[in-house]
Amino acid sequence: MKEFDVVVIGGGPAGYVAAIRSAQLGMSTALVDEYIGKKGKHVLGGTCLNAGCIPSKALLDSSEHYHRVLHKFDSHGIKAKEVSLDVPTMIARKDKIVSTLTQGVAGLFKKNKITWLKGHGRLELGMKVSVKPTSGEGEKEVVQAKHIIIATGSVPRTIPSLTIDQDHIVDSTGALDFTEVPKRLGVIGAGVIGLELGSVWSRLGADVVVLEAMDDFLTMTDEQIAKEALKEFKRQGLDIHLGARVKSAAVGKDGVDLEYEDADGVHDLKVDKVVVAVGRKPHTDGLNATEVDLFIDESGYIHVDEFCCTNIPDIYAIGDVVQGPMLAHKGSEEGVMVAERIAGKKTRVNHETIPWVIYTWPEIAWVGKTEKALKKEAREFRSGTFPLRASGRALAMEETVGMVKVIAAADTDEILGVHIFGASASELIAEAVVAMEYNASAEDLACIVHAHPTMSEAVHEAALDVHKRALHI
Ligand code: FAD
Ligand code: NAD
Repeated sequence: MKEFDVVVIGGGPAGYVAAIRSAQLGMSTALVDEYIGKKGKHVLGGTCLNAGCIPSKALLDSSEHYHRVLHKFDSHGIKAKEVSLDVPTMIARKDKIVSTLTQGVAGLFKKNKITWLKGHGRLELGMKVSVKPTSGEGEKEVVQAKHIIIATGSVPRTIPSLTIDQDHIVDSTGALDFTEVPKRLGVIGAGVIGLELGSVWSRLGADVVVLEAMDDFLTMTDEQIAKEALKEFKRQGLDIHLGARVKSAAVGKDGVDLEYEDADGVHDLKVDKVVVAVGRKPHTDGLNATEVDLFIDESGYIHVDEFCCTNIPDIYAIGDVVQGPMLAHKGSEEGVMVAERIAGKKTRVNHETIPWVIYTWPEIAWVGKTEKALKKEAREFRSGTFPLRASGRALAMEETVGMVKVIAAADTDEILGVHIFGASASELIAEAVVAMEYNASAEDLACIVHAHPTMSEAVHEAALDVHKRALHI
């Protein structure tokens, strides 16, 4: 039986990064993964690279280019005639990016001498992992591990009234592969995926109706930003209905008949396709958790402590399969931490400074606490804001929608949260993460020189506004 210092189960951004770091630290490492890519072959990268972060961003960029040519170039004095759309080329470009990256990870595995075991991984008693070929054919292999890292990720949640057929009713994976633009698209859930993929198909010409069960919009974001974002997304054409619950769906020859209920009563909605984006759940199917006594909590997550240790010595769990935001970078950092702790280092992950980004246009990004959360904690704070309409660079780019908000402790001035709605928010938030990681105060941020003209000046001005000394508003 082959023996490894570390065996990782799951090859997404949590697992593959844990494997690379383990190997870098001199440990013999194997990774088991069962993901089959679009070409029918085993691929690394998990959800993120194959059906999540990367393909969705590829389509968000393509669709944004198309939208700009049609609607934004005119005011720059650029006339584009006979613009047409080729969805298969757009999808093929996305697939090429995915395969470049998944092959890149396979290359990193070779470079770091990581053994890639293709198939379904199952925990066995005595720190063993069995690997069953995904096709069901071939021999089952069993390997011995000194340490096991579980990184089995998450899968989409479903709702009983909507059966996913990946044709008329699809999940996020199906919504990345439409071969033509649906005329009418229903999106269930106005969360991150609903807004990102709803935006893609709306920019490409679909009439998109979003049905969200909650009465409030984007409850995890700053309330002021959520309000502004809702107004902007509606202006862009996303027909977002809050407090709307789907009661039934009937698939017919010419689309899907949805019945939903909101405060005004029951409504019918006819669409060509439906995307179900109502959240994701941790994936532990077939892991054999019960037999090996691995503790899974009532929400389905593998229970871990702050260092990702499970209840079984030398077995760790990281990424979407454990509590915390379901974000690729959160899983990757947990992977690095666990590998380093196995190697005897004292690494930890600061879960307070994990940034979030929603890649709509404009983007929404934040780190740290919202005003609502701080009020709940009865913590006193001061906020500073800066609207992008007052930014020279935003005006030059014609991207004046949005704002930056900096929240600081009333007593110490330490930055507690930064919230951005605007162009380049995904990049701007990094400055806030660095500042918070170093316990910077709003004044520290206000004292840093920011290049002119840049969008980052809006972060500077919002920090100045915490002490009511913004210069350009
Ligand atoms: P996964 O990426 O889910 O990987 C788990 C892997 O384990 C898979 O390959 C799976 O096949 C394999 N596996 C599971 N069980 C077994 C087993 N028993 N044996 C062998 N293999 C197994 N996050 C961001 O940070 N930014 C984004 O922009 C972003 N966009 C997203 C867009 C979409 C449409 C979706 C769906 C998600 C997006 N996410 C994004 C979330 C991100 O994809 C996840 O947080 C991330 O992939 C989690 O990484 P992971 O390694 O924990 O799990
Ligand atoms: P989500 O939790 O962001 O949003 C799901 C939405 O569906 C919520 O607003 C919820 O109230 C609503 N909902 C639930 N049940 C419903 C029902 N029956 N009818 C109508 N609405 C209903 O989940 P998601 O958008 O599916 O994304 C899953 C996770 O994937 C995200 O939470 C995030 O962690 C990750 N993700 C991240 C990014 C990113 O970082 N940019 C992008 C995509 C996905």
